[in-house]
Amino acid sequence: MQDGVDGRQTPAAPTFSVVVPVYNEGEGLLEFHGRLSRVMGALGEPWEVVYVNDGSRDDSLSVLEGLHSDDPACALVNLSRNFGKEIAMTAGLDHSRGAAVVIIDADLQDPPEVIPELVKAWRQGWDMAYAQRRVRAGESWLKRVTADAFYRTMQRVGRVRLPRNTGDFRLMSRRAVDALLQLREHHRFMKGLFAWVGFPSVAVPYDRAPRYAGRTSFNYWKLWNFALEGITSFTVMPLKVATYLGLATALVALVYGGQIILRTLLFGNPVPGYPSLMAVLLFLGGAQLMTLGVMGEYLGRVFNETKRRPLYLVERYAPSRPRPPLRAAPARRAHAEGESARY
Ligand code: UDP
Ligand code: MG
Repeated sequence: MQDGVDGRQTPAAPTFSVVVPVYNEGEGLLEFHGRLSRVMGALGEPWEVVYVNDGSRDDSLSVLEGLHSDDPACALVNLSRNFGKEIAMTAGLDHSRGAAVVIIDADLQDPPEVIPELVKAWRQGWDMAYAQRRVRAGESWLKRVTADAFYRTMQRVGRVRLPRNTGDFRLMSRRAVDALLQLREHHRFMKGLFAWVGFPSVAVPYDRAPRYAGRTSFNYWKLWNFALEGITSFTVMPLKVATYLGLATALVALVYGGQIILRTLLFGNPVPGYPSLMAVLLFLGGAQLMTLGVMGEYLGRVFNETKRRPLYLVERYAPSRPRPPLRAAPARRAHAEGESARY
């Protein structure tokens, strides 16, 4: 896990690192790599791509091994099993060495052709250039509506502002990456962590394409849990809501109790109805269970964080290989000086 962190300082560090989490993408990888290489090559500066194989169960690993042996720009991080996209991205960032790092999906939903625009923003001095979807092609009506509701909720209750219609596709400066990598929590809601880092950020609009091949691994149950993760990682609002819900219920019960006492005093012998008893009982039981559940969500996360396990295990790391000396050396030096001045 540490090699990427040490390697980052070596003079051979490329200008750009592209981090790609890969899970069962064997079918589309060659096409992806071809398009990425064309785009990155045209930028005219040294670059590497860090493929993180997140425990794929198809032939992704062998395709990536082939790419690694054919193309010196390819680095390969093979995780010991499937850890999920958030952690796979973190592993990639840990092993990236570039002065600017791009995160992109392997399924070609994030078109590599947008990268030069992200790079342009970085050259203008932005630390974070996030690609913002103009349209969501190939996504269902339900997904659009739920995503919209989620962003709206997060914006209201969370302390950090999440940019709308933004995924993980973005470019980060080295200092933003280093800041992000200091956050080692297990429940990684990356969109929130990106926003937490702050630094000057800018949106670059683009059109999201449908998947090139394969199937999405995110179903609605996973998305729901993802939303839950986002909310519990960035706000304790649900706990507060539970408090006030309890308070409100107690108040209502007090008023209702007073009314019963009053009625008993005034009219005597009132047999309180079984239905109202049942209604109150069930309501209180439900409210209590729900509150316990909310507390459980937080407690479970505290439990997971206190175990302090490593975020992931690397089965194998094969770094990219430095390229022969560059012709564009003077231009690059000027750029590097500009960089250090900014830090
Ligand atoms: N991915 C991953 N680990 C996982 C699931 C997905 O590394 O457990 C990768 C996947 O290979 C792809 C990216 O994360 O590069 C986005 O996944 P997907 O296309 O399934 O998500 P969606 O675009 O539907 O949000
Ligand atoms: Mg996708």
